[in-house]
Amino acid sequence: MAPRRALVIGGSLGGLLAAHLLRDVGWDVVVFERNAEDLTGRGAGISTHPQLIDILRRVGIDFDESMGIKVDVVICLDRTGHTYLETDTARTMSSWGRLYRSLRDPLPPGSYRLGMSLANIEQDAESVTAVFADGSRATGDLLVGADGVRSTVREQFLPDVQPDYAGYVAWRAMLDEHDVPPAIHAEIFERYTFCLPDGELFLAYPVPGRNNETQAGRRAYNIVWYRPTDPDKALPDLCTDATGRCHGSAIPPPLIRPEVTAAIKATARALVAPQVAEIFARTPQPFFQPIFDLESPRTVFGRVALVGDAAFVARPHVGAGVTKAALDAAGLADAVASGDLAAGLARHQAKQQPFGSGLVALGRQEGAYLSAQLKPREQRSEAELHRDIKDVLHAHNSRSENLRKVLTESCRLG
Ligand SMILES: Cc1cc2nc3c(=O)[nH]c(=O)nc-3n(C[C@H](O)[C@H](O)[C@H](O)COP(=O)(O)OP(=O)(O)OC[C@H]3O[C@@H](n4cnc5c(N)ncnc54)[C@H](O)[C@@H]3O)c2cc1C
Repeated sequence: MAPRRALVIGGSLGGLLAAHLLRDVGWDVVVFERNAEDLTGRGAGISTHPQLIDILRRVGIDFDESMGIKVDVVICLDRTGHTYLETDTARTMSSWGRLYRSLRDPLPPGSYRLGMSLANIEQDAESVTAVFADGSRATGDLLVGADGVRSTVREQFLPDVQPDYAGYVAWRAMLDEHDVPPAIHAEIFERYTFCLPDGELFLAYPVPGRNNETQAGRRAYNIVWYRPTDPDKALPDLCTDATGRCHGSAIPPPLIRPEVTAAIKATARALVAPQVAEIFARTPQPFFQPIFDLESPRTVFGRVALVGDAAFVARPHVGAGVTKAALDAAGLADAVASGDLAAGLARHQAKQQPFGSGLVALGRQEGAYLSAQLKPREQRSEAELHRDIKDVLHAHNSRSENLRKVLTESCRLG
């Protein structure tokens, strides 16, 4: 019997993980990615979790020393650059590009197709067909929507489900290790650094470098800076390019106006420790991503299943976007490994639903302080006005444990 065929829409980490995991259980898989060019240059640092490393090993990718940078100390710097708290941690920081290459390279030629933008889906009792923007069509037994937070697949079945802006953006910046001034490098480069400007959260840590290298001297320093940003005025202004065109709630980094970039660098110097402000100011192009929550009430529609950010987006404090995409893909592959497809998909949805919702709830809880900053001061609760650095660190260091709890709970419910 010919192997069953899966069409995976979206060639980022979620789509690639689904492709490998489905191939491992005997499916013939083709990935269709909208971008015409390879995605290698995208992405920045990502946190890893033991669950992600296990799934990478399952598809034959050994997560060895070369894939991540271990960080074992967390420091908190005040506005003057003084370390007011130092504690142990155990974190491995990897990069989006490193994982992408490891997953993309082993796929057989022809099974990853660039420049294929899904337009819509047709399905009947026998098969499912992806119709692309160029008019071409592909038919299979299963279609996996791994096409991210603005999913075309989800839009067709759940047009009313939209990402919900959380009230803040993450400014992101990355500087090559050799561009970090030596004195600052010696003091903070190998540490996970926190700054807590009033109402904001600033994190910085080492990640694999430009070519995904982890050797000393070839790494990079990654900054994520959460800043409350009013959706009616400040966000549209940030998203307006030099010609006056507003790009909605996100703008391609090269189109960010020079005065916006200059202003955020000046704000870094005013609000965060001078060591990290200097690194931020030296990065050629900081960019920002609005933070969203997204929760799909269903993830299976006949022969179509959503995975990764297309199904649920939890705020990045949970640090689990890639791990969630991996767990979704593994659950799907296990569910459709053999037997009745419809029954397998129903089983998959029953497990994925509480897991996704659980992570979204966790992200909301961890980001509540930041979301609350848009409220008038007199309407904020005590916890929304003041926060304790120990609580922030505790939540941060408990990420893997929290993920495990949500996973265990969802298995019980599913
Ligand atoms: C500030 C921030 C920090 C983050 N930090 C972390 C972290 O530390 N750790 C972590 O694990 N995760 C993190 N994430 C999340 C992580 O990047 C994603 O959750 C993860 O990559 C899974 O995404 P995905 O593959 O499902 O979707 P995406 O990565 O969004 O990919 C979707 C793909 O589908 C393609 N596509 C879209 N529409 C179509 C179409 N119509 N036809 C064909 N292709 C299409 C897109 O081009 C894209 O390649 C962070 C996110 C943010 C915003």
